[in-house]
Amino acid sequence: MKKKHSLRFQTAVVLLGFDILILGLIYFFQSYFLDDFYYRNKIEEMIHISDNIASKISEEDIGSLAAEASYLNEVCIRIDTENSSITGTNGNNVCALNNLTSSQVKAIAQETIDHGGRYLFQDYRMAYPFNDRDLFIYGQIVNYYNYPLLVMVSSTVEPLNTTIVTMQSQYLLIAVVVIAVTLLLSFFISRIIIKPLNRFNEEAKKLPHGQYNGDAAKTTSLELDSLNNTLAKANAEINKADVARKELLANVSHDLRTPLTMIVGYGEMIRDIKEENTSDNINVIVNEAKRLSSLVDDLLDVSHLESNQLVLHRQKVDLNDFLRAIYEQYAKYCEILNIEFILETADDGIVDIDVKRISQVLYNFLNNAINYNTSDHKIIKLSVEDNDDYYRISVFDNGQGIKEEDLTKIWDRYYKVDKEHVRFHLGSGIGLSLAKKLLELHQFNYGVDSKYGEYSLFYFDIPKAR
Ligand code: ADP
Repeated sequence: MKKKHSLRFQTAVVLLGFDILILGLIYFFQSYFLDDFYYRNKIEEMIHISDNIASKISEEDIGSLAAEASYLNEVCIRIDTENSSITGTNGNNVCALNNLTSSQVKAIAQETIDHGGRYLFQDYRMAYPFNDRDLFIYGQIVNYYNYPLLVMVSSTVEPLNTTIVTMQSQYLLIAVVVIAVTLLLSFFISRIIIKPLNRFNEEAKKLPHGQYNGDAAKTTSLELDSLNNTLAKANAEINKADVARKELLANVSHDLRTPLTMIVGYGEMIRDIKEENTSDNINVIVNEAKRLSSLVDDLLDVSHLESNQLVLHRQKVDLNDFLRAIYEQYAKYCEILNIEFILETADDGIVDIDVKRISQVLYNFLNNAINYNTSDHKIIKLSVEDNDDYYRISVFDNGQGIKEEDLTKIWDRYYKVDKEHVRFHLGSGIGLSLAKKLLELHQFNYGVDSKYGEYSLFYFDIPKAR
């Protein structure tokens, strides 16, 4: 396992590493390349000045050209015509080139010509007062109205050893300052990050109890705030799930108690009183037991769906036969409850469905249509609409309807519009969420249309089997 370090330590290490790299590079260049850079720059500058004079020499007065160039560039310039020499000095220094004897000039001119018209004389030694310094002279032969002129640009070259030593002693000081600043920086950077992180940590400990307080962990950083929002959302979800879990437990226990009371009551009655041993009474026990088992099935399905364990067993069936079978199961029941139950089938059609699961969806729709129907003349309609490439199956009821604001929420797990609703039927607010999941598993389009106080219409579309 990798060793763990604090953020403060890691930040300091990264920043110090960066410092060492930069300081090392500076030291390396200073020690090994400084004079190279210095000489190259000097030489390039002289070549540039000399070229510039060469390009202007036919247009301007030679004297002022030399004076201007030497003044602007702080170098010494000497232009030798056949008869005379013109020099320009940079003002501060006496021009070293003035000290050249005519034989030296001739020698320089000859060597420049020998080298093709341009030559750099390095370490040119001259008599007093320049004998303690090296002198660079750049010579160039320039064409002046068909006469060759020798243009010389000279520059003294400072010895760099002392400069380097000075820089290196400064360098040590700089290194100390940089490292100190880095350590301080790393301290502040880590404080900016660590402080809110510690606050997060403290708040996040309350997350399992749903008591995370997003406001307490607010920061000024976008990224950390986004993390804070995520945690606050997770906290809200935990609370929601907790409330839902408690509600489900209450509902389930309530729904379990009614049939259990009936089973125990009727069982004892049959056991104690011989005459009560009738098939009607035994039927009550059987039906209540069935209700119990169907509730347990629903709960198991929800748990399977949530852990993605539910697998569909699709088969091709005749849609009308399928719907008629469901209709018949409910027809008698509706007759007893005095509900007008209508079936509208389409022309024959084959569909590819998991019969058990789609039946479950329709049972949920139909149970709700019965449960939430308070009108005097109750009507429920199970129908098929034959569209181009799909069949729309719908369950209509003229019951209490659903308010618009509830229309999207009723598909949520455990959601009930009327929390205090006393059920005649099984239902813990999971029926529609189960239906939704089953339809999504089939990849069927589904939905609800309703007008509060007038009607509800739940539907789903089955693509036509090819
Ligand atoms: P349950 O019926 O067990 O409460 P469901 O998931 O089946 O749970 O339904 C969720 C909620 O949607 C119901 O509590 C009810 O308020 C509303 N609902 C569902 N179907 C209808 C309907 N046909 N008419 C009116 N309200 C309905």
